[in-house]
Amino acid sequence: MTTVRTKSEQGMMMSTTTIRAHLVELKKELEGRLARIAAEREERNAPDNDQWSDQASLHGRDDEQFAVQLAASNELIQVNDALSRLDTGHYGFCTVCGEPIEAERLEVLPYAVRCKVHAV
Ligand SMILES: [Zn+2]
Repeated sequence: MTTVRTKSEQGMMMSTTTIRAHLVELKKELEGRLARIAAEREERNAPDNDQWSDQASLHGRDDEQFAVQLAASNELIQVNDALSRLDTGHYGFCTVCGEPIEAERLEVLPYAVRCKVHAV
């Protein structure tokens, strides 16, 4: 186990190992969620399945599921980005001012790309 710390020691006291573990966990969770949605949709689309014969509820559920799926895939993209930034050593710096992102912010949002000041 390496405990390489990011460039800035003052703001970033969390080791990248901890952050990576956190991101990998998030990634697994998101991939699991997406897989479940895909599996459920496949099951529902099976011709011999009349569980979803009510068209109205089918549509409502589709919209809802689509929103969940979209949110999960967007989050997954950000998690993967953060992981590749960790690999290249660019992790944890604000894309606006280049300053290190606050450790407590990264703890809550490990794939954050902006500091508190520049958070949208
Ligand atoms: Zn900033």
